[in-house]
Amino acid sequence: MRRFHLPALLSAALVAAAAPAPAAPSRDSFDIVVLGARGGIEDGNLTSFLIRPRGDDGFLACDAGTLTAGIEAADRRGAFADVKPPPGAATTRVGYILTERVKGYLISHAHLDHVAGLIVASPEDSKKPIYALASTHAKIAGSYFNHDAWANFADTGAEPRLGKYHFVDLVPGEATPATGTAMSVTALPLAHGPVESTAFLLRSKDASMLCFGDTGADRTEHAQRLHAVWSAVADDVRHHTLKAIVIEASFPNSQPETALFGHMTPKLLLEELHDLADQAGGPQALRGLPVVVSHIKYSFKAGERPQAVIRRELEAGNDLGVRFIIPEQGDRYRF
Ligand SMILES: [Zn+2]
Ligand SMILES: [Zn+2]
Repeated sequence: MRRFHLPALLSAALVAAAAPAPAAPSRDSFDIVVLGARGGIEDGNLTSFLIRPRGDDGFLACDAGTLTAGIEAADRRGAFADVKPPPGAATTRVGYILTERVKGYLISHAHLDHVAGLIVASPEDSKKPIYALASTHAKIAGSYFNHDAWANFADTGAEPRLGKYHFVDLVPGEATPATGTAMSVTALPLAHGPVESTAFLLRSKDASMLCFGDTGADRTEHAQRLHAVWSAVADDVRHHTLKAIVIEASFPNSQPETALFGHMTPKLLLEELHDLADQAGGPQALRGLPVVVSHIKYSFKAGERPQAVIRRELEAGNDLGVRFIIPEQGDRYRF
């Protein structure tokens, strides 16, 4: 079992694996399980977060770069301690969690590090929806589920259609109930270089959270996509009902802004969070807000880990008092 290495500052956010479930679970907060924390290179640990309202059975996977290996790692660390497969179940615990508890996928865009786990698990997966913008569904159908790269497990695209995955096209800005969960999901488009990516706004009762796919900053993308996302949640921040943000900072500040490939650095993420604070009432508006920093690129370079560099750079500029969390595979958080 891996040991936790989070500083005391952050340890409060990390629920010890063996912690009992709350006596009276409520749906005004979220459980997040990290199936994959990296933005590339490290197969077996690519972007994916399981999210459910606290106390509910049904998860949505926000991106699916790694699924099976992530469920195995998280289960070893006790993240699914409350999940009890029925006695005599024909599947393993990992199989039960994937097929019975993951009720659908939110796919931000079709890059491999966001869909590889879904594609390779598809032969053993259960029937469920994939929620995405129409542009993302078109790429998944055209690039993967086309009977060349992989069999077509979807209900659209190349014939024959095996129909395991029902493609639900999300209309930007419109809330759609997520079947089998207590959540609704709203897609908000993002600029990720030349690719359209997506932020997902999840709501359960009065609580909400944001899970971002890959994105550049408005300044480097010459766009207003993030500004629009912040506008959409400014009232939630004001009312303290936005419980957490999962968002990327792929590279340290040393990466030139001309070589970001549609991603962000700590400097750019802090700029964007200032825009959110401005729209939500000022510099105090984000104090204590958990921000899970996803998609940090794995590096083969010797020396300090990118996670350590990015944490230091974020904290050095953290005049907003945001609670930055650097996730590792198998972590579970409650917000
Ligand atoms: Zn990515
Ligand atoms: Zn990408």
